[in-house]
Amino acid sequence: MAHAVTYVDSWDHRDLHIEVHQLRRLNELLLFAAQYNEFYREKLHDVVLPIRDMGALRKLPFTRKQELVEDQVQHPPYGRNHSYPASKYVRYHQTSGTTGKPLKVLDTQQSWEWWTDCWLDVLHSAGVTAHDRVFLAFSFGPFIGFWAAYEGAEKLGALVIAGGGQGSVERLTSIVTNEATVILCTPSYALHLAEVAKENGIDIRNSHVKKLIHAGEPGASIPAVRDAIETAWGAKCYDHSGMTEMGAYGYSCHEQCGLHVNEREFLAEIVDPKTLEPVASGETGELVLTNLGRYGFPLIRYRTGDIVLRSDEPCACGNPYRLLPGGILGRADDMVVVRGVNVYPQSLEAIIREFEEVTEFRIIYETVEEMVQVKLQVEAPDSVVQPLASKLRQRVGLRIEVETVPANTLPRFEMKARRILDLRPKPGTLAR
Ligand SMILES: [Zn+2]
Repeated sequence: MAHAVTYVDSWDHRDLHIEVHQLRRLNELLLFAAQYNEFYREKLHDVVLPIRDMGALRKLPFTRKQELVEDQVQHPPYGRNHSYPASKYVRYHQTSGTTGKPLKVLDTQQSWEWWTDCWLDVLHSAGVTAHDRVFLAFSFGPFIGFWAAYEGAEKLGALVIAGGGQGSVERLTSIVTNEATVILCTPSYALHLAEVAKENGIDIRNSHVKKLIHAGEPGASIPAVRDAIETAWGAKCYDHSGMTEMGAYGYSCHEQCGLHVNEREFLAEIVDPKTLEPVASGETGELVLTNLGRYGFPLIRYRTGDIVLRSDEPCACGNPYRLLPGGILGRADDMVVVRGVNVYPQSLEAIIREFEEVTEFRIIYETVEEMVQVKLQVEAPDSVVQPLASKLRQRVGLRIEVETVPANTLPRFEMKARRILDLRPKPGTLAR
């Protein structure tokens, strides 16, 4: 398939060429950061630069989100991870802070251009062109969500329609009347829009929408979620992964088998979260990323907390960049161990979404007699309970209680969905 993503080189010489490119970019970044960035000057103090090979990468210190947050507390308001004078910065964003204090992130004009260019690769990989009309079903706020996508689509020459400040019916009407061909939103919201379209008799299957590009949650790489969205919209789904603090680092291709890491601009390692050693091919581990071109806010060996599968197999689409099969498999933070079984919300969602009667759900973690228990609430008819519970038992290997709740009682999400209700006592509080 012909598309305009610029790769470092073809798959034939993948390892050597990508590595040579990455080592050069990495050394440029390290030398720059060690000189101009106060946060990294301190962290890289004992490192001999330039590094000679990728093996030496493993000797560099990791960066954790907590360090960045604490640095901003110590040096308010923006911390020390900035390489230029304050007047050079033009963009402000912050993390959603669903799992802690929000992190403030600034970009220079150059680092923002870099973000936008990374989004161009996402759009190219999904086959979006200047002929498309791109609708962004999203409220534009301080979160990074879709800002760079907006500007990337504009750079591509597509017609861009912002759907901020609108309700779901208004958005659907705008999508239909403007003959939008591409929708950008979270996977949860694509399903919610489909639900609202059905209730209001709006025909989205026969609309001009051909593609949906998702971000914010891993849903588009979960086959049952993807199927549900594709069926409801009569369109093809693409996945994308990015982080406010890191950049737009991954995208899916027409093979729909996972996420490619944009290795032109990011360096990916997959490590065991306990030993911090690289995992072998076929094993899962935590994704560690380095952004090679965001000089205004660099991150070196950043522990993303995302669990991915390492594979050394090339993707059938011809893109030589590393494929993460199945995309993001879960968050290290969201995993619970129940009677020795590792449970990720994503693996439960993959099963729940096979039941199309379920319109919304919530996963509850609680402690019963000092044991972690997982319970499910679903908006669905009672007839779903038995078959869902038995499928969960078969596939997860655990008995998980399923209860139905009335329609439209569980929260709906436009941004990152938070479908976990954690009722376990927090450390330091008294269990009751
Ligand atoms: Zn591919």
